[in-house]
Amino acid sequence: MSEHVADVLVVGGGPAATWAALKAAGAGASVVLADKGYCGTSGATAAGGTGVWYVPPEPAAREAAMASREGLGGYLADRRWMSRVLDETYARMNELADEGRYPFPTGPDGSPLRNGLQGPEYMRRMRIRIRRAGVRILDHSPVAELLTDADGAVAGAAGYRRQAGEPYRVRAGAVVLATGGCAFLSGALGTNTNTGDGALFAAETGAELSGMEFSNSYGIAPEGTSVTKTAFYSFATFYREDGEVLEGAASQGGRSAIAGELLTGARVFARLDRADTTAQAAMRLAQPNFFLTFDRLGIDPFTDRFSVTLLAEGTVRGTGGIRITGDDCATSVPGLYAAGDAATREEICGGFTGGGSHNAAWAMSSGSWAGAGAARYARALGSVRAAFRPVTGAGGAGLRPTGGAGSAAGPGEARELVRLVQEEVLPYDKNYLRRGPVLTGALGALDELWAQVRSLRGEGAGLVKVRQAAAMTAHARWMYASALARTESRGMARRLDHPGQDPAQHHRIVTGGLDRVWTRPAELVA
Ligand SMILES: Cc1cc2nc3c(=O)[nH]c(=O)nc-3n(C[C@H](O)[C@H](O)[C@H](O)COP(=O)(O)OP(=O)(O)OC[C@H]3O[C@@H](n4cnc5c(N)ncnc54)[C@H](O)[C@@H]3O)c2cc1C
Repeated sequence: MSEHVADVLVVGGGPAATWAALKAAGAGASVVLADKGYCGTSGATAAGGTGVWYVPPEPAAREAAMASREGLGGYLADRRWMSRVLDETYARMNELADEGRYPFPTGPDGSPLRNGLQGPEYMRRMRIRIRRAGVRILDHSPVAELLTDADGAVAGAAGYRRQAGEPYRVRAGAVVLATGGCAFLSGALGTNTNTGDGALFAAETGAELSGMEFSNSYGIAPEGTSVTKTAFYSFATFYREDGEVLEGAASQGGRSAIAGELLTGARVFARLDRADTTAQAAMRLAQPNFFLTFDRLGIDPFTDRFSVTLLAEGTVRGTGGIRITGDDCATSVPGLYAAGDAATREEICGGFTGGGSHNAAWAMSSGSWAGAGAARYARALGSVRAAFRPVTGAGGAGLRPTGGAGSAAGPGEARELVRLVQEEVLPYDKNYLRRGPVLTGALGALDELWAQVRSLRGEGAGLVKVRQAAAMTAHARWMYASALARTESRGMARRLDHPGQDPAQHHRIVTGGLDRVWTRPAELVA
């Protein structure tokens, strides 16, 4: 077992984590960052590219940016937060250009285009920046549980160092969870580490979640590939196998027609034939990664028809996550902060994301605030107290079985559990085309799975796999419990049995609990 001590521990290695580490170190804190993968290549951003909600501080442009998606999000976003995120994102993107020397492309008029980032280049530079700031990076070191002190405050985390083959612990004054969302190992690009671990860790210390019903995003990808860049399909026409146009199919407001067709066993084809030459050039400039797949397959997406599928993206492109309680992204648990996809994005997106570039903006803004907030908290606590207070592990399912020794579980058991969770969350006719009775049945099956996970004890490297399966199970239960509590259609939480929006349900839904999952409505702050 190796031991580390820091003022701030950041869990994760994507944009939210690296901004958190940078700003915590900049505030004078000693920082350890622990990533499940290799910080710089892991997570949903590193493998691809993201559009960023970068809007110059001109009142009309800002007003249009805020107004554009309020309806789509079911009027659950908060303008004060939108405004803060727009300011912070503008500042951080300019910092990336000036201090991070990010090579932004230039438009036809020679002005820099700062509304997008190439994941590999962005994250490579963030890794360099945090190393220069003195952050200690623990790569390939998945966290398996949080540590708490005698008062219930979060005091560090424990995990497993894969390459050293040993467990480790970090005692810290405060912890930022930036572990990304949960895409249920569906195969969507870059999401293989996004198993919802942070939400499980947070709930085990008593934190709450919010917006978990907004978790049924399915991205469009060429069949047999992982690249879900749904925004570009706004230029697509969709076709049946026989070449007829698939009526009602669209990237926005028409994915259910695609899901319906795929459910019959037929294939669906797309062609980006509504992009003129100017749009085509702009798309290639903005997201070159999108075209790699097509280039390798010898497909010209603007002229050839290619078959598509829908991949689940869960809370990676949903808006639900750990509920935050302060402007510094604190949670309801002292010493615990949340950022990026691990946290709820309802403050700026309400109940809908995708194609609007809000998630990338949220990751850098919330990461920066959480890092600075955690540093402040840790410094007030004091380094000596952080290093020497007695701590205990908060982890349960898959780690400390209920009522006894439980049975040992390795990767085989974990794989089977993952398969069983996927059976409940990936099918379009359960999670996408939602109906109450189907959701209730799936939730019942997931509750039984949870009881099974509660009786398991993962060991060594297998522990991480079992904890991932536990996190996915917990995530799915919060999702479906929240989806059942919203008996209307709002944002991306659409119910076929409740197609209309109900003004009486203009509230958020908060959820939590482990052995007993609960939900409650939460009024919007005026
Ligand atoms: C294909 C695709 C395209 C996208 N395009 C856009 C776009 O154009 N615009 C936009 O705004 N958003 C987009 N998104 C969403 C965007 O990528 C995410 O919002 C963003 O990556 C979130 O950053 P994050 O740091 O919170 O999480 P991630 O980037 O997912 O990083 C999570 C990190 O946590 C680590 N981790 C997980 N569990 C543990 C653990 N137990 N212990 C230690 N570390 C752990 C992972 O290894 C990873 O490093 C896209 C997503 C996908 C999948």
